[in-house]
Amino acid sequence: MPAPRRPLIAGNWKMNGLGAEAEALATDLARRTWAVGAPAFELVLCPPFTLVARVAAAVAGSGIAVGGQDCHTEEKGAHTGDVSAAMLADLGCSFVIVGHSERRADHGEDDTLVKAKAEAALAAGLRAIVCIGETEAERHGGRTLATVAGQLDASLPVGAGAANTVVAYEPVWAIGSGLTPSAEEIQEVHAHIRGELAKRLGTDEAGGIRILYGGSVKPENAAALLTLADVDGGLIGGASLDAGGFWSIAESCV
Ligand code: PEP
Repeated sequence: MPAPRRPLIAGNWKMNGLGAEAEALATDLARRTWAVGAPAFELVLCPPFTLVARVAAAVAGSGIAVGGQDCHTEEKGAHTGDVSAAMLADLGCSFVIVGHSERRADHGEDDTLVKAKAEAALAAGLRAIVCIGETEAERHGGRTLATVAGQLDASLPVGAGAANTVVAYEPVWAIGSGLTPSAEEIQEVHAHIRGELAKRLGTDEAGGIRILYGGSVKPENAAALLTLADVDGGLIGGASLDAGGFWSIAESCV
């Protein structure tokens, strides 16, 4: 029997936020979490590296997790400007996003590198949120399922399982655009991803892995997009910068 999948709502703050506003946002979410007690969903905040320590301090004891937006493949060494998974763990992170389409586009990251980063994350005791998703051209060319299956196959870390890996399906054309696939299309892709995971890890393990949807999720569309059978939460960009909106998205998942 696969373990039940607790919905996970991850906020990807991208390159946004300075200390005071980040602390206010994190504190607001921590207060809401305390007020509820034990929410049925799990929250993770992924601020820029500069804010990880402040956000971790602001949410300490609330049950809200903190994650990085990227990590290096190596634990330490001559890699100017980079941050390792061990450093994130040291700051209080328990998650890290790898392979976000903005990293793939802005920094030329490919599946091989994403896989190595995910493996570094696991080695440091972090849970990896591995992002995959098709471009607009791939979707229009009828290659969505093949694209995500190929990305998954090439970027899933060795040792991946329900306890340490989350998959985020994020169509590139839906990120920050206000556009989303239909609910039926999202469910089709998620079911396909779970099927691919099952081929590799077995049905039980695949049944326990959380598969998030990301791309223009807002409070208005969250209930329709995030409660589908194989959707186990969301990776939220723009809408995660507003505490009330982010909280309402999380509440829509359960
Ligand atoms: C993202 O950056 O992962 C994302 C889904 O962004 P947005 O919600 O703004 O589309």
